[in-house]
Amino acid sequence: MWPQHLKTNASSPDPKRIRRALTGWYDLHRRNLPWRDTQDPYAIWISEIMLQQTRVETVVPYFLRFLARFPNAKTLARAPLGEVLKVWENLGYYTRVRNLHKAAGEIVERFGGKIPDRWEEILLLSGVGRYTAGAILSIAFGRNVPAIDGNVRRVISRLFAIEESVDDTATRKRIEERVGTLVPKRDPGRFNQALMELGAVCCTPKTPACPACPLQDDCRARVQGIAHRLPVRGKKKSIPHREVVSAVIRDGNGRLLIVQRPARGLLGSLWKFPGGILNPEEPPEEGLARIARTELGIEIGVGSPLAAVKHAYTHFRITLTAFSCTLREGIPTGSPWRWAGTGELEELPFSKADRLIARSVAPATG
Ligand code: SF4
Repeated sequence: MWPQHLKTNASSPDPKRIRRALTGWYDLHRRNLPWRDTQDPYAIWISEIMLQQTRVETVVPYFLRFLARFPNAKTLARAPLGEVLKVWENLGYYTRVRNLHKAAGEIVERFGGKIPDRWEEILLLSGVGRYTAGAILSIAFGRNVPAIDGNVRRVISRLFAIEESVDDTATRKRIEERVGTLVPKRDPGRFNQALMELGAVCCTPKTPACPACPLQDDCRARVQGIAHRLPVRGKKKSIPHREVVSAVIRDGNGRLLIVQRPARGLLGSLWKFPGGILNPEEPPEEGLARIARTELGIEIGVGSPLAAVKHAYTHFRITLTAFSCTLREGIPTGSPWRWAGTGELEELPFSKADRLIARSVAPATG
């Protein structure tokens, strides 16, 4: 059950009018998306995890491929992680997929292969937080609980003219309370999706389309003329930049030396070229030789740069430069490694930045 203490009585705007206007608008204007044709909790779970931090247009083909390959929690739990990572490749934020795979195992072991339909139980699954729990429970199981993502937070902060930072815990709780008073008992999933959809296509961050909005008459921010400066956000931290180097080393048959990342941590279990982060002010040639020594116990000669890519993660940005290198001494040890031809490079899961390097130094043929 959604915690009862969060169901407080908010003053006007009138909840009934808001529900009616919003769901009526949603029925007419909602985008046609594959996960909206189903009430299968598994499919809804996959879509909600994929949609975190990722655009709808990007998610659609991944969602369809993923469901075709792993149609239920049992098949997902049985599949090797490498296979699941490969289907996820380039969707980013790989912790999500590792958690999905882990949670599929939990669903099979603890819940007989079925996604639990209770608030307390679904929150036990790896990678399932309050938003995802709310979305699955309301859409698939008809539970009247909120599902609050960034879009919903923006709409509610404007609708109720909340001028405190939405990054503060107290404000988030206040928003939960507001949404808790709005989610209807009947068809709560439709209401939650309508609220998210309004935030995604109408009440957008920079230029809310108020004249087309079904809630315009009830929206305090619109009436007060402050919609454009809501929601208030906390101060953004500056994102650090890291210089990353990698070694492109070929054997006598032209195959490339690649290494598997540790299972835990950023990009866990994906493959990459030997290399890593340079120390501050460290010359790339020196740094790359140092990293190859630490990572694989080998001595390498570092030649000229072959390719460079820039990439942004949530908390930092990188510039990744790949150098042509030669293996001078030693046999790789430590991390899992292999010599891979072009075909194998294509089959193994790589991060987006590493894939760009791989395609640039060993273009796929055919
Ligand atoms: S009236 Fe404007 S600011 Fe208010 S909810 Fe609608 S789009 Fe957002």
